[in-house]
Amino acid sequence: MPELIFPLDSTKKFTDQVKIGHNRWHPEIPPVAQVRPGDSFRVHCREWFDGAIHNDDSAEDVRDAPLKTVHALSGPFAVEGAEPGDLLIVDILDLGPIPQEDSGPLAGQGWGYTGIFPLKNGGGFLTEQFPDAYKAIWDFSGQTATSRHIPGVSFVGIVHPGLMGTAPSAELLAKWNAREAALIATAPNRVPPLALPPEPQDAILGSVPSSDFDRVAGEAARTAPPRENGGNQDIKNLTQGSRIFYPVFVPGANLSVGDLHFSQGDGEITFCGAIEMGGFIDLHVDLIKNGMQTYNVGENTIFMPGRTAPQYSEWLAFSGTSVTLSGEQRYLDSHLSYQRACLHAIDYLTTFGYTPEQAYLLLGAAPIEGRLSGVVDIPNACATVYLPTAIFDIDIRPSSSGPIRVAKTGTAPHAAFQ
Ligand code: ZN
Repeated sequence: MPELIFPLDSTKKFTDQVKIGHNRWHPEIPPVAQVRPGDSFRVHCREWFDGAIHNDDSAEDVRDAPLKTVHALSGPFAVEGAEPGDLLIVDILDLGPIPQEDSGPLAGQGWGYTGIFPLKNGGGFLTEQFPDAYKAIWDFSGQTATSRHIPGVSFVGIVHPGLMGTAPSAELLAKWNAREAALIATAPNRVPPLALPPEPQDAILGSVPSSDFDRVAGEAARTAPPRENGGNQDIKNLTQGSRIFYPVFVPGANLSVGDLHFSQGDGEITFCGAIEMGGFIDLHVDLIKNGMQTYNVGENTIFMPGRTAPQYSEWLAFSGTSVTLSGEQRYLDSHLSYQRACLHAIDYLTTFGYTPEQAYLLLGAAPIEGRLSGVVDIPNACATVYLPTAIFDIDIRPSSSGPIRVAKTGTAPHAAFQ
């Protein structure tokens, strides 16, 4: 086992650990550990809400989830000799839930969760159709996930980190804040918001000294979006065996990681669409000196996906185009066409006895494939979503005998705002 350089004690909060991580991006958050090019090391990760979501049959915790506390990130880890302009090579050697004999209170100890976040607290990809909070708990048996809240499905996990990235420079951070503030200013009262400005409340900034804390907390970027540093990319294919090349913006690179997922579908569509969990990740790092210029990598990461994805031989795919539900034609709107493809799949799955919410949660968590199939055929973009038929206990293919309904044993817990 590689040396554990960021341990987390499951009985303690993220802020009560020996080494304190962070939940914002800022160049002045000091590294918690230093590694060398060529080193392998192990890091523990807390699930993104640090234990606020529970293994129970209520969705009130999702409805009231403390969004200002996310994401609980492990790091930053400084890489000796890394300088701005380098490419940081990160290999994912291994990762998984916290090894534990009995399932405990924290996600990752034998279980994880998927949430539909309500319109008034985060929203999601289909928040107009699904404005309330719902939750599904998934149980892990070896590599397999099943849920008492979504009967009749099981699938092999495609474990990956939702979030990993390098620290921004002061200049890059200022650029993020300026461009996101300009977007927010176009509709400052929108629910859900267009973007999240810096938020000092609940900021965790590692060992930033108290004399600088308020200033840094007022500047530090939220971790929700992916940006030039990688960040919350939520790419389900960053499984074991992946190699990612991150741009380096500060001396030491200052790599951070968190938001581990047991599984996720393309798009992570319910917002908390993956199966969220804590766990461990083993990384190996190296450097390509001046690699950003050598390979013209200025904007965001490049990567080689892992080779351990579950293999499915048969898919049932649903398409959607850029026409709104009320019939309005939009011009090559790929976002809308993927929404329509997903709604198409959800409508279909309800004929087998699933509620729309169960189907939505399933599309978030299962290893579905999403594709931009056509983006040039004016006026309609065509997006498609592929469901592996083998994850269902029943045959979900269309046939002349009609749908066989799934044996109903569970419902997805629901919570609305009063
Ligand atoms: Zn996540």
